Parts: sequence; C-alpha cells; structure tokens
Amino acid sequence: MSARVEVDLEALADNLRAIRDRVAPAAHMLVVKDDAYGHGLVPVVRRARAEGVGWLGAFDVETGIAVRAETADARIFSWLIASRAEAAAGIEAGLDLGVGDAELLEDVADAAATAGRPAQVHLKIDTGLHRNGIRPERWPQVVARAAELERRGLISVVGIWSHIGEASDADDDASRAVFDAAVADAHAAGLRPRVRHLSASAASFARPEFRYDLTRVGAFAYGIRS
Ligand SMILES: *Cc1c(COP(=O)(O)O)cnc(C)c1O
Repeated sequence: MSARVEVDLEALADNLRAIRDRVAPAAHMLVVKDDAYGHGLVPVVRRARAEGVGWLGAFDVETGIAVRAETADARIFSWLIASRAEAAAGIEAGLDLGVGDAELLEDVADAAATAGRPAQVHLKIDTGLHRNGIRPERWPQVVARAAELERRGLISVVGIWSHIGEASDADDDASRAVFDAAVADAHAAGLRPRVRHLSASAASFARPEFRYDLTRVGAFAYGIRS
C-alpha cells in the first residue's frame, strides 16, 4: 500500500501572504519541522523563499543543513543542538542557533573558536514551559557570560526567544512578563539582540503584543489548527 499527498503550493503562498499581513511589522519565521508538517521540506522551502520569507525555523541542525542546501541567504534557525559536533556543523552551515543551556553556550563558543567565525546565537529563556531554556534565576549569569563571549568575537547574540503554551491567556501573559524581564537583563549585560521572538501560530494571530520582531508560525501556514 502507498499513500500520496497532493500539496497545493498556491494555497501555501496565499497563507504566507496572509501571515505576513497579519504579523507586520514583525517578520514571519516559517517553521518547517517534521518535513514541513508533512508537506515536503524542499518544495515548501523553495516556495517560501520565492514568496520572500526570510526566516526558516528548522528545529534540529540536520534539518537546518537540509534547508541551507536550498537557500544560500535565508536565515535558518535551529534550536535542537545535541552536541558540540552539531554546534560545529550548524556554524559551518551558517545557521542561527537556539541556545537554552549554559553548557551548550560554552560548546557553541568553543566550536566557533575552532571554526574561526562567530556563532549566531539566540538565547532562550525558560518562561514557564520547563522544556528547556535558561531558568530565570540563572539568566543574569548566562547573559553576562554571553556578553563576554561576544566581546571575544566567538558569538553574536542575535536573538532572545522563548516558547509559550498558547493554551491560556493568563499563563501566556505571565510568560511574557518573564520574557520582557529577560530582554531587559540582556540589555543591561550589554547585549543588543536584534530579534525577540516568543509566539507560534495561535498567539501570533490573536495577540499582537506577543509578536515582537519575529513570529515562529508553522501550523497556520499549512492550514492546520495549532
Ligand atoms: C513547532 C514550533 C513552533 C510553531 O508552532 P505552530 O503552532 O505550529 O505555529 C514555534 N516554535 C517552536 C519552538 C516550535 O517547536
């Protein structure tokens, strides 16, 4: 037995335009994990690039590298980095790396030193989901260390981010307060992240104050309810 899925790339393009209009002036990072939610990574990435999507959310480094093979100049964000070797491969491919762990930050800096070029880092604050992310009590120490690594030319802290539940407005609001405090701490430590990103499909659509600079929207781009 075999199954076929027909993917209408015109429908994807319509959805991408609708998202762009909805979240502007924030940008849209199209999340393409799980083979672009089962739609086929390569055709989705190609069409998204043709439609002007500048950021792609690739989940793990392996996917990020596969996306890089399709586009030389998009920003590609990978946030599952399992080892120093994966960090090195991500730096080599010019990926933006999500870092939610103090030890991983050291691995990334170490890999960047070997590569001879700075890693593009997005630091993740744990705003309540407790999946990963730097806990608020450790955050000031980690941003201070990141600022030091940045001054040494090993990393560039491009972003601050987190992931929220999007199941309850009250919980999301509490997460957003933690996020705002983390961004303020990062500035106080001397970091100047250009992109803050917090929301996935649901909050990006329903709650403008969650959009910041960049929205990580997957489900709604594919016509899936989140
Ligand atoms: C899957 C995922 C998203 C996208 O979520 P949707 O609800 O599909 O839009 C955003 N951010 C992270 C970290 C994710 O894992």
